[in-house]
Amino acid sequence: MKTYDKLIFELSRPGRKGYSLPEDNYNTNGFDSIPKDLLRKDEASLPEVGELEVVRHYTNLSNKNFGVDTGFYPLGSCTMKYNPKINEELSSLPSFTTLHPLQDESTVQGALELYWNLQNMLSNLAGLAEFTLNPYAGAHGELTGLMVMRQYHISRGDHKRKKVIVPDTAHGTNPASAMVAGLEVVEVKSKPNGSIDVEDLKPLLDDTVAGIMMTNPNTVGMFETEILEIADLVHRAGGLLYYDGANLNPLLGKVRPGDMGFDIMHINLHKTFSTPHGGGGPGSGPVGVASHLVNFLPNPKVVKNEDGTFSITNGEESLGNISTFMGNFGVMMKAYAYILTLGKENIKKVGPLATLNANYIKESLKDDYLLPIEGVCKHEFVFDGLKDKSTGVTTLNIAKRLLDYGFHAPTIYFPLLFHESMMIEPTETESKETLDDFIEVMHKVAKEAKENPDDVKNAPLTTIVRKLDETTAAKNPILSYKALKEAVK
Ligand SMILES: *Cc1c(COP(=O)(O)O)cnc(C)c1O
Repeated sequence: MKTYDKLIFELSRPGRKGYSLPEDNYNTNGFDSIPKDLLRKDEASLPEVGELEVVRHYTNLSNKNFGVDTGFYPLGSCTMKYNPKINEELSSLPSFTTLHPLQDESTVQGALELYWNLQNMLSNLAGLAEFTLNPYAGAHGELTGLMVMRQYHISRGDHKRKKVIVPDTAHGTNPASAMVAGLEVVEVKSKPNGSIDVEDLKPLLDDTVAGIMMTNPNTVGMFETEILEIADLVHRAGGLLYYDGANLNPLLGKVRPGDMGFDIMHINLHKTFSTPHGGGGPGSGPVGVASHLVNFLPNPKVVKNEDGTFSITNGEESLGNISTFMGNFGVMMKAYAYILTLGKENIKKVGPLATLNANYIKESLKDDYLLPIEGVCKHEFVFDGLKDKSTGVTTLNIAKRLLDYGFHAPTIYFPLLFHESMMIEPTETESKETLDDFIEVMHKVAKEAKENPDDVKNAPLTTIVRKLDETTAAKNPILSYKALKEAVK
């Protein structure tokens, strides 16, 4: 076996190196100017390796990674769509990447114009009055939006409104953000079809309600058809409606949260608007609000002056700064490039194609997998594990087995509504051939579960790292090769 086929990290050999520095030049221009007491006294403990070893090491490591660029990634609620390369090219133009946030306004007019234009595009898509692009992620957007909600009630002297209603199917960040914003979380139940139970909601609507957080389509992929009635009930009780728009994909250019009665929302640019994600960032979670909440949006803001130039300002009623400067500008550039390359007409095709792909997979697999909610879904749907539970094969086993066949696993054990949740979101960018391959493999795994369950239960069998003991991995993680060497001693 070649060294790079294995997880071997100890490539260092004394004296081997992959660089050469002109000794004299370095001493006169470099070390001499550094104060003596800041110079290190011992040699740095760095690996001693040649350039070729380094290149092979990282190239081979990168080949062990799974990404949208290597295979199908049906991770529900994450919208792992293809990220067009033109976005990367544009966002890495030096004229943008070399900007400094403390530069004089007159020298960054183009960047401010982009911020302003993107903010307006999102307002149009959402049916809301104004957006801030400052939050760094979806959860950060939720926190910002809930701070706006709180500020609104406080500004009216309505101090007892602290209750935020969250459906039992909500993304975990929703109740977490409400807690961090200093609000209290109350759960509202779903009906068997996954929609909010309006009868369960009504008794919760009193004069302590700050608002409700909803996802529509909800996390089981179904559109909340009673949304207008819910909006009316919440507004009449004096509360506000918060829309978790992390996954706006199915509605783009078709339906606007503002028209459904929502007052505040966030959008994940790193999902719907095609910024690569999954490795932990950078992200962007713009927050939009209806006109009566615009003044509470965070500082700083970009405004357009009468002469057509742009300025950065701070609003007096604003809840303050929630980020350093104005958020992750590179992500905004990618979203801007994405929207402009699609254009007004094509952006309307995203939702229907994503919806068609999800329904195609759902209908093709429901003879083998348990579909708890029948009907047309939007961009994603949830199976409750295998239909035949007698084999003992779980959703976790299936997720691991898919890795052996070269597919990323779906989202598993979320939403919490079902015991064996398997949430599948194909997105609009996949071809019919890819969907058919996935369907074929899912059928094959269902067959294996009956005929050869141990292969599925012990999966993955072909990946570089086999099945982990998840408790040990969480409680006692081995995060470096040195720790690994210690552990296997
Ligand atoms: C992804 C997601 C979030 C959180 O977004 P982050 O950028 O990961 O913080 C919130 N709600 C829903 C429905 C999501 O899918």
